[in-house]
Amino acid sequence: MATHYRTCPFCEATCGLEIEVEGREVVSVRGDAEDVFSEGFICPKAYGIKQLHEDPDRLTAPLVRRGGELVEVTWDEAFEEIDRRLSPILAEHGRNAVAVYLGNPNAHNLSALTHGTAWLRVLGTHNLYSASTVDQMPKQVSAGHMFGAMLSVPIPDVDRCDHLLLLGANPLVSNGSLLTAPNMRGRLRAIRERGGRVVVIDPRRTRTAEEADEHHFIRPGTDALLLAALACAIVEDGLDEPGPLAEHVNGLDEVRELVREFTPEAVAGATGIEAGEIHRMARELATAERAAVYARIGTCTQEFGTHASWLVDVLNVLTGNLDREGGVLFPRAAAGQKNSSGPGGGGRGVRFGRWTSRVRGLPEFFGELPVSVLAEEIETPGDGQVRALITAAGNPIVSTPNSARLERAVDGLDFMLAIDIYVNETTRHADVILPAPEPLEKSHYDAAFYQLSTRNVANYSPAVIERRGPAEWEVYMRLAGIIAGQGPDGDVDAFDDMVIQTLVQREVGMEGSRVEGREPGELLEALEPRRGPERVLDFLLRSGPYGDGFRRDPEGLTLSLLERSPHGIDLGPLSPRLPEVLRTPSGKVELAPEAIVADIERLRAALARERNGGMVLIGRRQLRSNNSWMHNLPALVKGKDRCTLHIHPDDAVELGLADGEQATVRSAAGTLQALVEVTEDIMPGVVSIPHGWGHDADGVRMTVASTHAGVNSNVLSDESQVDPLSGNAVLNGIPVEVSLAPGHANDSI
Ligand code: SF4
Repeated sequence: MATHYRTCPFCEATCGLEIEVEGREVVSVRGDAEDVFSEGFICPKAYGIKQLHEDPDRLTAPLVRRGGELVEVTWDEAFEEIDRRLSPILAEHGRNAVAVYLGNPNAHNLSALTHGTAWLRVLGTHNLYSASTVDQMPKQVSAGHMFGAMLSVPIPDVDRCDHLLLLGANPLVSNGSLLTAPNMRGRLRAIRERGGRVVVIDPRRTRTAEEADEHHFIRPGTDALLLAALACAIVEDGLDEPGPLAEHVNGLDEVRELVREFTPEAVAGATGIEAGEIHRMARELATAERAAVYARIGTCTQEFGTHASWLVDVLNVLTGNLDREGGVLFPRAAAGQKNSSGPGGGGRGVRFGRWTSRVRGLPEFFGELPVSVLAEEIETPGDGQVRALITAAGNPIVSTPNSARLERAVDGLDFMLAIDIYVNETTRHADVILPAPEPLEKSHYDAAFYQLSTRNVANYSPAVIERRGPAEWEVYMRLAGIIAGQGPDGDVDAFDDMVIQTLVQREVGMEGSRVEGREPGELLEALEPRRGPERVLDFLLRSGPYGDGFRRDPEGLTLSLLERSPHGIDLGPLSPRLPEVLRTPSGKVELAPEAIVADIERLRAALARERNGGMVLIGRRQLRSNNSWMHNLPALVKGKDRCTLHIHPDDAVELGLADGEQATVRSAAGTLQALVEVTEDIMPGVVSIPHGWGHDADGVRMTVASTHAGVNSNVLSDESQVDPLSGNAVLNGIPVEVSLAPGHANDSI
């Protein structure tokens, strides 16, 4: 029996696992007590790694559609089919005729980060979509405007703050999002134990809210108004004290003026939070010794997502807590985005709208179009129409707005390729499916999430079980070969060399880089004999802030050192990084970004909006679920039905609904029926259905998930509703009508 230590790949918390393996059999999974970051903590999803390994529905051979059926073929046959079907589309209609959708697991996938980006560059389509525009794009856009780069997101210094204000976030269940911090329960308890305060704002009394000192229900979609009112109250009371931050910030006076009209009294009606409470919360936030404001998905998936994301950091600046220990800080990742052009900071900043979607004219953000436009780009004839779709670890028919329309659109494609582990609601439409490796078959390094971590850490895990089939990066390179016109047997090694050479060339030419001006050939030689993602990772580590700089610092970080450190390496707490972290053209924090300020009138108009008293729908996170893809693991779906409609008792009485009955829920986009669960944990006037469910479609090959199907909440979300500043879908606060479903009553939950 062999014992392996590796990072759990299922969420952003990056917990260490101890996995015992006998041959190809996984014997046990437990928390790695010696992991430098998680110290043994895991959540129930960790055991999913064993069940995923054993899942008979998980794909292990490529599938090609023949005679209408998906049948197993060899890898060579699959690539030949891709070449036969995809190449003519590219030749005749050009690269924009091929759309790509990347699901959330790509962010955890080292190969996807190092080599997945390479085939996308070779393809060069403007029709690139991802889960980011149903999830977090507003935060990335506001970070881009304020700090100059998409991953320059200030992270709460959870372990040292005395006051944490959370909005639209449920880290006890999500385990942190845009906040890598294993064991958030323990970390939040520690804040309270050291005399601090945790305040939660959410339309649901979440598990995080239960652990907090106080919780306030808020009307969905009004977080930006509340945040503006908190800022207003702080300014009006003369409590705004950016302190030494001020010299690094542009636009302080403009923001003070902008928030002035959003008084607590003005927003109380819209938000549902009393003005006196807002004044008190503002005072306590501003006067806390070390405080952090943190907001997540609930504040992003709404029409004012970017305003809310921006105002979070406005509050962090006004209270002097940005870039301050115990406040919010920028991580210094070992292998990440190069944030600096020198110790003085500054850069080119961000530019959006370099192209727009063909039909609706929505701008790109960070090279992506909003996924809300994907269906219309497929359906609408004309030059640039999307005729082929490639999905990688994604299930957009379940995860993105107006599922029914997207499903109809996908049905009309000329060709669809999926890289996935399941035949799911989306991949069942594919003409070719390439099986992605299971987590244990590939190495792991959370390059993206260490850039969002509450502590600087590095942890590399080699594969635990030998891969049967090509490595994932080799699959990407063969795909690149087809797209580049080399046919199904492109030179994988040549593409791999191109990936590392491009990276090295860029870094040696980058001002302020650890390897600036070095001879590329010398660096490439030093990386031998590594190939693939490990070669890229070793380069990033060695040229990164803790790296050996290719021997300039013999004690520095290398992949070899991480390989000898199975429990990871702790690189210390977060520390101040202004101004070197900034990449705005001014080299300062832009507190009043032009694009956001120009749209403040829309937020102002929301103050005056009539509230018609109708019901609105929100989503919810679940501890044993991760978006749409973990419902085929028996340990994670056992027990009572969890895909239920939460409704407040007062609303249930008014609508004549009771626990266990089926309700019909109608929106502008569609209708579904859901099992009613009456609970005081939801705000009156609000109902909630978790997203990621609805696994009972024909052709889905997920046996366990199909028997715990649930309903797809995105049948109800409306693809026409987006946050215009980021293109993010509006998935929270959807107006709905709720009624007793005809012919359904009193089934027990
Ligand atoms: S919290 Fe996240 S990383 Fe940790 S064990 Fe659970 S799923 Fe894995």
